[in-house]
Amino acid sequence: MAKSPETEHPNKVFGWAARDKSGLLSPFHFSRRDNGENDVTVKILYCGVCHTDLHTIKNDWGYSFYPVVPGHEIVGIATKVGKNVTKFKEGDRVGVGVITGSCQSCESCDQDLENYCPEMAFTYNAIGSDGTKNYGGYSENIVVDQRFVLRFPEGLPSDSGAPLLCAGITVYSPMKYYNMTEAGKHLGVAGLGGLGHVAVKIGKAFGLKVTVISSSPDKEDEAINRLGADSFLVTTDPRKMKAAIGTMDFIIDTVSAVHALYPLLGLLKVNGKLITLGLPDKPLELPIFPLVLGRKMVGGSDVGGMKETQEMLDFCAKHNITADIELIKMDEINSAMERLAKSDVRYRFVIDVANSLSPP
Ligand code: NAP
Repeated sequence: MAKSPETEHPNKVFGWAARDKSGLLSPFHFSRRDNGENDVTVKILYCGVCHTDLHTIKNDWGYSFYPVVPGHEIVGIATKVGKNVTKFKEGDRVGVGVITGSCQSCESCDQDLENYCPEMAFTYNAIGSDGTKNYGGYSENIVVDQRFVLRFPEGLPSDSGAPLLCAGITVYSPMKYYNMTEAGKHLGVAGLGGLGHVAVKIGKAFGLKVTVISSSPDKEDEAINRLGADSFLVTTDPRKMKAAIGTMDFIIDTVSAVHALYPLLGLLKVNGKLITLGLPDKPLELPIFPLVLGRKMVGGSDVGGMKETQEMLDFCAKHNITADIELIKMDEINSAMERLAKSDVRYRFVIDVANSLSPP
């Protein structure tokens, strides 16, 4: 008979899980493997709440397998390290992001692109290298192979730094890969949420001119005066959208819901690039005429490899980039998810795991 989540491994752990597509999270007892020779055990201090957590608990993409303990923006303290672990010692502050496994021998892994390895394992809602299910950061601790653990730079706060482990790398990686870092170029950021607001800050640190493209007129003041964007476009204002046609070199699209790409493609200059990062539950329509007539391109990008994630953390520490967060207790997570679904968060919920997660 298959073992229960609570008994399949030696170490009992407590967290919060969704049991079905209602997405409702509640206390959950499970277990984690012993710390292996290459592993680091992390006592979790903080965990960010990504829209991917919401998509997954609601089974938006159709492949959630319950129970799901979400959470892939994890900052904590290494409490145990295996004998082959060279990068970390007990007591170090560390981070764990979206991926916790890959084959470590394919072409992608050899190029530090573990995120594109065919055997890449997500931190939760996935099967790990030992054949058992991965549970994420809405929990007391996590055991991770050292390759997938990040050094958390001194100077980066643990709470507002946590979202960089997903939101940060997801916007940083395409900016580097698609050559979107030349100072003075014009970046549009569509969707001002968790990913979007970090994209504004990283874009400004590269010296770009940044315009937020948003469906929420009430975010204008904050976008400019708090986050440092140069200008703000409301997608529902046809006059302003028309005036901005052909003005942007590239756009990072972080919108989480189905939306029209046509107006975004129109904002690009000739040779402009639209990089889509959001993962709506249904396909988007791709208009071909603006691509062909303006030699424009549409690309995608999935988080980033471990080496680049470390580079991004160091970059953010150097430039004092953190997320704007609302710190919540574990038992506030269900109302936080309801607010996240309505884009009602400025701009990332972070769970104060160490101070609010306790078994009932
Ligand atoms: P988020 O904080 O909820 O932000 C998404 C933003 O999209 C909202 O703040 C809102 O911005 C806009 N939006 C939402 N619903 C909309 C609608 N119906 N019409 C138009 N705009 C809408 O989410 P997030 O955590 O930044 O994640 C964004 C997306 O990226 C999610 O789909 C997530 O799964 C995906 N993601 C992808 C990767 C990757 O590797 N590619 C990694 C992490 C997350 P405005 O109010 O400004 O319009």
